[in-house]
Amino acid sequence: MRSMLSDTSVLVVDDEPFVLETTAFILQRLGFEAVYTAERAQQAIEYIDSDHASISLLLCDLNMPDVDGVELLRLLAERGFEGDIVLFSGEDKRTLKMAESLAKARNLSVLGAVSKPLQVDELSQLLTKRGQILRKSSRPATQMVAKERLVRAIEDEELEPWFQPKVEIASKRVVGVEALVRWPNSEEGMIFPDAFIPVAEEHNLIDALTFLVLKKSAAMQAEWQKLGLNLKIAVNVSMDSLYELSFPERVASYLSDHNVDPSSFQLEVTESRLMEDLVTPLDNLLRLRLKKISLSIDDFGTGHSNLSQLRDLPFDELKLDRSFVQGAATDERTRALLESSVEIAKKLDMEIIVEGVETLEEWQRVEILGCEVVQGYFVSRPLPGSDIPAWVEQWPEQCKSLFSRAA
Ligand code: C2E
Ligand code: CA
Ligand code: CA
Repeated sequence: MRSMLSDTSVLVVDDEPFVLETTAFILQRLGFEAVYTAERAQQAIEYIDSDHASISLLLCDLNMPDVDGVELLRLLAERGFEGDIVLFSGEDKRTLKMAESLAKARNLSVLGAVSKPLQVDELSQLLTKRGQILRKSSRPATQMVAKERLVRAIEDEELEPWFQPKVEIASKRVVGVEALVRWPNSEEGMIFPDAFIPVAEEHNLIDALTFLVLKKSAAMQAEWQKLGLNLKIAVNVSMDSLYELSFPERVASYLSDHNVDPSSFQLEVTESRLMEDLVTPLDNLLRLRLKKISLSIDDFGTGHSNLSQLRDLPFDELKLDRSFVQGAATDERTRALLESSVEIAKKLDMEIIVEGVETLEEWQRVEILGCEVVQGYFVSRPLPGSDIPAWVEQWPEQCKSLFSRAA
């Protein structure tokens, strides 16, 4: 822990010198070695712009004179600040939560919000969250692959979709799968999307990646159908791809190359940023819809997707992010938001799927909320396409034993 923390430069921004001093002291006690302070937001920005140190953690007060914390968040977003942020303030919890959501909507990485006066325990809990994420995951800390390697892997078609089952709650039937890209690599073992999707997005490779996944998924679909297996395959698409007007035709042509019906495919669309222009994506989404490809709004509840898009865009499915479901267990406001999202989605005739369901308890919770389909480790981890037919065959048995354990 300590060695990880000492690599981290922290910047604390607060207009009260006493708060600055005590916070800096607390942080040093927690093991952070490089702690910098700023009494004004403007000062913090100058600091970040000057490049003296790369700040990987920023603690920021919301109430400050001149430039307040909310404005500071905007300035940070404009600069593409990549460090983690902790908000603190004397304001009530709800205001803190709103600020947290706003920061997330701006693509800032927010660890959370703590109220003043600062409690050592609360702060250290929040800060270890980052460590916990690394520790809990079986994967090593994500290190991005180099662009050149990724270009080659795409050209050589080394990337492969794995498939994670989606199960209907009412019937417990397998209704579809989500294609999740994997990069099997002989030297490093399996490389997961976190390590290369951001690289692909940054270097304009995401379209090539999407079409490779789509092409291999279409081939898989053809094989499964030969075995009499009917599963809708959902492929992930970044919103950025929807700015190209030829997108729907390209998708359709890959599917027809393999003689598979467009209605056996679905696209899960995630927003990677706040969108200014909705016209081109809407044009594309409508034409995909006309081709009978169904559309899902992915990661709902993470701050990138929001309720107004449900009204304006032609989605068939609402995919609730795992964090939403976890949050609903503990946080009343999250639960209220979850319930009203489910209600609106139903009124708009959208199917509701929940991802990241890991336990029977979570399954039951989302069932009560009226969600219809479940995906997550509770049912199965993502599997190679060739394993899917056998998995589907054994699922009724496995399902019985999963649920009988509860009884
Ligand atoms: P996503 O679309 O939200 O996919 C769900 C992620 O959650 C997957 O991670 C999946 O393995 C993981 N997951 C599934 N069940 C559980 C569970 O019960 N608990 C937990 N904690 N996690 C679960 P994965 O495969 O590492 O993919 C990460 C992200 O990378 C995806 O998030 C998606 O945004 C992106 N991605 C994956 N494949 C593609 C692709 O072909 N194209 C694009 N554009 N993005 C992709
Ligand atoms: Ca997805
Ligand atoms: Ca998702």
